[in-house]
Amino acid sequence: MERLESNRLHEEALTHLVGGVNSPVRAFKSVHGNPIYFEQASGAIVTDVDGNELVDFVQSWGPLIHGHAHPSILESVYEKMQRGTSFGAPHLGEIELAKHVKRRFNHMDMVRFVSSGTEAVMSAVRLARGYTNRDILVKFDGCYHGHVDSLMVNSGSGLATFGIASSPGIPKDTVATTLIAPLNDEEALEFLFDEHGDEIAAVVIEPLPANNGLLIQSHSFLHRLRDLCDQHGSLLVFDEVISGFRFKDGSYGDMCGVTPDISALGKVIGGGLPVGAYGARREIMEMLSPLGPVYQAGTLSGNPLAMAAGCKTLELLDESAYDYLESLGQLLEEKVVPVLEKHGFPMRLVRLGSLFWLSPGSGDPPSRADQIPKDAGKLYADVHHGLLQKGYMLAPSAYEIGFLATAHNEDHILGMVSALDEVLSELEERK
Ligand SMILES: *Cc1c(COP(=O)(O)O)cnc(C)c1O
Repeated sequence: MERLESNRLHEEALTHLVGGVNSPVRAFKSVHGNPIYFEQASGAIVTDVDGNELVDFVQSWGPLIHGHAHPSILESVYEKMQRGTSFGAPHLGEIELAKHVKRRFNHMDMVRFVSSGTEAVMSAVRLARGYTNRDILVKFDGCYHGHVDSLMVNSGSGLATFGIASSPGIPKDTVATTLIAPLNDEEALEFLFDEHGDEIAAVVIEPLPANNGLLIQSHSFLHRLRDLCDQHGSLLVFDEVISGFRFKDGSYGDMCGVTPDISALGKVIGGGLPVGAYGARREIMEMLSPLGPVYQAGTLSGNPLAMAAGCKTLELLDESAYDYLESLGQLLEEKVVPVLEKHGFPMRLVRLGSLFWLSPGSGDPPSRADQIPKDAGKLYADVHHGLLQKGYMLAPSAYEIGFLATAHNEDHILGMVSALDEVLSELEERK
């Protein structure tokens, strides 16, 4: 596949946009390539500006659970658009989407909509600090919560400690209020609560960490976290921006039997338009302005087009949609595992429902960031490039997951697996 026009546009973009992109992972840096310019997308397929068609397993990084440009989602948005694109005033769509969200996240008495996952987590953190009247946060090494200053923190040395900023531009005083702990490690958690428990406003975690591969946590770890928060009066914040509405049986918290105090949402709930949300029980949400003193606002919050796309997306997510996604996931697993075993490269499949990860390494899947091999870049870059040439697009990074959508079908999966088989054979010959 030639990408002359894509490459030309990328060259031009480099003079106008930083690195040619508006979000860093789109730059294809970790797979040593140029980004692909999309012309249009429909269902499972994207068409690039050179006219190449690709089966898309990125799906805008998670929001498009029904694929690109789903006809009834488009129709809902068109219909609303004719009545105005932004009101800056309340409207019915907000109530409807709030009801959808509460049906699935039934620990929420009230919801607040924002415009991104980052904003949802950032606001949830402010609310938790306002409610508890404490400053300290706990986050886990390997979780991503958007580009929130206080959560852009990596582990330094030691077991559970104050972290170091993962980007310049974050004040030392901000980092000094964030403790960082390893995932799936009850002992580290206990240590940390022993030392700092009564100062901890909130523990923020992706209960299904899915931004540094897919790091499935033991349910007992999440239960222990809940207990420790209760013992010390800290709030538990589940960041379900990526896991929310991905599973038939409810929130990911429900699936583990753990109820958080606050949940943050995004991605799927906007159906491809910018939406984030957070919610909690009444006494917590009543701290939020205009009822309470914790301030949070947004010019485009509750945008009518975004609410319409979200409502239609969630309406379409009935039991049969989840069953279908699970059957696609099972097919992928059944077909891809023998292919990976046959070639013997250090690559394994980790899958839960419609989320999958071609994980570097072999043996048991990792549950903590420090168990992920750091040298996965080269093999993954070769696999990624090979698949692109055969018409299949995976995330342009070994540490990002893939997404199945109801727009995928068996042929898309079987086609991708046999392309992967060919790519791995070609890599073997080159060895
Ligand atoms: C994507 C993501 C975010 C950030 O959401 P944006 O809409 O990109 O700001 C936060 N938390 C998790 C778990 C995510 O997957």
